[in-house]
Amino acid sequence: MAVVLVISCAVLGALVGALTPRVAYRLSVEYGSPSRSACAHCARPFPAGLAGWVRPEARCPGCRTRLGPSPVLTALVGAVSFGTLTWALGAVPALPAYLFVAGLGLVLAFIDLACLRLPDPLVLAAFVVGGCWLTALAFVDGAAPALGRAALAALVSAGAYLVLALLPGANLGLGDVKLAGLLGLMLGWLGWPAAVLGLVLPHLINGPVALALLVSRRAGRKTDMPLGPALLAGALLAVVAAARALP
Ligand SMILES: [Zn+2]
Repeated sequence: MAVVLVISCAVLGALVGALTPRVAYRLSVEYGSPSRSACAHCARPFPAGLAGWVRPEARCPGCRTRLGPSPVLTALVGAVSFGTLTWALGAVPALPAYLFVAGLGLVLAFIDLACLRLPDPLVLAAFVVGGCWLTALAFVDGAAPALGRAALAALVSAGAYLVLALLPGANLGLGDVKLAGLLGLMLGWLGWPAAVLGLVLPHLINGPVALALLVSRRAGRKTDMPLGPALLAGALLAVVAAARALP
């Protein structure tokens, strides 16, 4: 039964991932700019409404240019992250909240890679849905201590990243601070070890990646690098460690 659930959620993650490129492409814009309404190469407009966002096609139907990240890659990352979360947490009532945050996190990671931004509406949507789901559970299951811990971990996590962002020469922005708050909330629900790992692991992931880019001269000392993907990957590993490895 557990295997069926893991596979079902991995398939769901692959579907969410396959639909990610167009959303990420349209939202990968400069701060304050409206989302893209047309292909940047041939100016062919996207369909109006939801149909312009939910599209499994990787390329512009006009000029055949690929828009956004590879759908194979996003589907793979979606399947792995949804499958891993489900395997780690099992069939718990909080699982849908974690999968919802992971789905938006997938979009956020690819937007951050494309344009070094973590759009507020996506982070806020994940915060509202994740927060409301956990709050409802706290009342139904009597898990008030877990909810209090989650709220405190969100504050601690956002506060720690705010301090880092305010340090001179900091290479993280307020978007990273807000994302860290969201992930602190979700990890705090699982316990303090998960929340602390969520603070530490992103830097252990980002350090070697930044070093490899520097050594291979694909990035310079002054190149801005996105932190969002490392924050999200670190949080996923923290969930696995908290649920599977820690006592
Ligand atoms: Zn085009």
